[in-house]
Amino acid sequence: MIGGENIAIAIDGPAASGKSTVAKTLARRMGLIMVNTGAMYRAVAWATIRESVDPDDVRGVVGMLGEVDFSCGVEDGVSTILVDGFYPGEELRQDAVNQRVSRVAAIPEVRELLVAKQRDYLELGSVVMEGRDIGSVVFPDTPFKIYIDASEEVRLARRSAEGLADAVAKRDAEDSKRKVSPLVVADGAVVIDSSEMSIDEVVSAALEVLRERGAPAEVLGADK
Ligand code: C5P
Repeated sequence: MIGGENIAIAIDGPAASGKSTVAKTLARRMGLIMVNTGAMYRAVAWATIRESVDPDDVRGVVGMLGEVDFSCGVEDGVSTILVDGFYPGEELRQDAVNQRVSRVAAIPEVRELLVAKQRDYLELGSVVMEGRDIGSVVFPDTPFKIYIDASEEVRLARRSAEGLADAVAKRDAEDSKRKVSPLVVADGAVVIDSSEMSIDEVVSAALEVLRERGAPAEVLGADK
């Protein structure tokens, strides 16, 4: 609890822009909970594979939401998600999940369920939450909104350096053109282009934004 009120720091941006690493680093330095909302959409996509549900079959996916339990928590300051009590871990990052996640994320009922769970995290403490619609939909009233961008070339290079196959441009196109909660620069968000920056430089730039926007001293902590 900070001054009686928990705060939300929204970090949005396209795939492989570095937002997870930046959000994790910021959260650790400030002692806040880091919430990875992409992992939640990935968990639903992963469940469609396990349950043999076609991601384009909206009724099938919505039906699955009523049968499978998605339970969110926190471990070591980072959000976790269990699917019927099972932690899919690294399987969430496999290419089969990459290929269908944007399609399940375009289903309004999926977003409604997960956005409610995302907002619930604020009951536990202040959060650094990363995703696509955190500043635009999940916490539109927070003054702390950062959009981390990077060129497509740099993003592809980052994914392949991790040894992961991921058609980031295709996912971004799907995420940007969907009707519900598309990837946008939220009103009032500060854009940081990380293409030519190190993680430390992006973190410093983000801290500067938080300072300028009046983040409480308790949150800025050692970085005051
Ligand atoms: O962040 P990450 O790349 O793991 O997200 C995986 C996918 O989840 C995105 O491509 C997008 O389709 C979906 N997503 C979303 N809204 C969020 C976070 C992720 O639609 N807030």
